[in-house]
Amino acid sequence: MAAAVTLVSAGQSVTLIESRKRLGGRASSFVDQESGETVDNCQHVAMGCCTAFLEFCRTTGLSDQLRRERQLTFLAPRHRPCTFTSAPLPAPFHLAPAFARIPYLSWSEKFAFGRAAAALAWSHPKTLQGRNFLTWLQDHGQTERLIRRVWEVLLVSALSESMDRIDASYARKVLVDGFLTNRTGWEVYVPRIPLDALFTDRVLPWLSERGAHIEMGTAVERLEFDGNRVLGVQLRDGRLINADQVIVTVPWHRLGQLLGPELLHSCQIPDSTQLQSAPITSVHLWLDQPLMPQRSVVLVERLCQWVFLHPEQPGQSGAAQQVWRYQVVISASRMLKGVSREETVARVWHELRDIFPEAANATLQHARVVTEHRAVYSPLPGVDAYRPSQKTAVANLFLAGDWTQTDWPATMESAVLSGNRAAQLICES
Ligand SMILES: Cc1cc2nc3c(=O)[nH]c(=O)nc-3n(C[C@H](O)[C@H](O)[C@H](O)COP(=O)(O)OP(=O)(O)OC[C@H]3O[C@@H](n4cnc5c(N)ncnc54)[C@H](O)[C@@H]3O)c2cc1C
Repeated sequence: MAAAVTLVSAGQSVTLIESRKRLGGRASSFVDQESGETVDNCQHVAMGCCTAFLEFCRTTGLSDQLRRERQLTFLAPRHRPCTFTSAPLPAPFHLAPAFARIPYLSWSEKFAFGRAAAALAWSHPKTLQGRNFLTWLQDHGQTERLIRRVWEVLLVSALSESMDRIDASYARKVLVDGFLTNRTGWEVYVPRIPLDALFTDRVLPWLSERGAHIEMGTAVERLEFDGNRVLGVQLRDGRLINADQVIVTVPWHRLGQLLGPELLHSCQIPDSTQLQSAPITSVHLWLDQPLMPQRSVVLVERLCQWVFLHPEQPGQSGAAQQVWRYQVVISASRMLKGVSREETVARVWHELRDIFPEAANATLQHARVVTEHRAVYSPLPGVDAYRPSQKTAVANLFLAGDWTQTDWPATMESAVLSGNRAAQLICES
């Protein structure tokens, strides 16, 4: 989508081919049969530092559908809620007062975190690349409790990976871009409407009105290659679409199949089969009462990592009776492998009732568990060696996607950056 937006804005003629009947890819929605509601596969949020994604939203008229959260609530077991917000201080000190107020850390832990955070920020990213971040933390005096209570909360949902599987340069990226560089990088933008309503209902007409041709519900079978240039794409429905330039934007695990061995070899890109995937689970709960006063909370040392109230006000979704819908996000959810849906819901519901005793009388009316097993590529130590550039050795073939080389972890920001860069390369060629 980002590549198409940049190309049509530059006056290029664009055909966008999408195998599904909607836009958005992994940031998508489906209709839940039981409630009849449109439900996101998982809550997607952007941080204030996701400037390319926020610019994409501005360009395509989506900004008014993003709610900007300037305050976050952290809840740790047996501690009062902790409200996190910027103080009127310049970066990087804007969050220091909020951090100092965290009730579930001792002063010595706060100082130990501060020292490690400063060491991480001062390190050159190149010296961190390939290093296991958990080992780095241990080498920098971070206790297990501090890692669980701060670093895990900071990184596991931002990178969608567990602490033992993170490249130290990616941890630095989150800390520096999100929390230190400017006063608003850490803020969270939450869509007010389902992802499908954002991307299919808004970006699609935006593109069509500007002359882009969109083919949906039709997959690309393979690329036509004459040994030198890509001639076009062969669709599964038998049609051949000729093209002067092609951007392939499929995920890492689909690239080989689409390109085929000859073209893949000619691209001279790193072996993307070396990229591993991380799962994300979201648990959707329909309740007859509100769970909490906040619209979203971050949970510390829990199975559930984030809880979001569905953006619509209760009762607005057409239900006669008032219903509160929550989404619980569990990133790097390997601990749920082999756990049945019923058991997952039971664990989540038990935990939430423990955290929010005021919801003890709430009735869980309906629940839905969605696990995306290949949600994102894993930011494993050394992962950058397998992320290709948007430019390939085949002159008219480009790559885009969150997993290509952008300096960013697997996010909508990375996807947009890569699409913009691929489009820019075409405009310059
Ligand atoms: C559960 C979950 C939670 C997430 N949470 C967040 C979050 O909170 N914030 C955030 O920034 N990011 C989040 N992400 C990551 C984000 O969704 C991705 O980084 C982003 O969507 C990647 O976009 P992309 O265009 O690179 O790839 P994709 O979204 O995977 O798009 C690739 C597209 O190619 C299409 N396609 C595949 N094969 C073919 C073919 N042969 N022919 C035609 N079309 C084809 C697919 O249908 C798909 O639409 C999350 C991801 C998941 C799964």
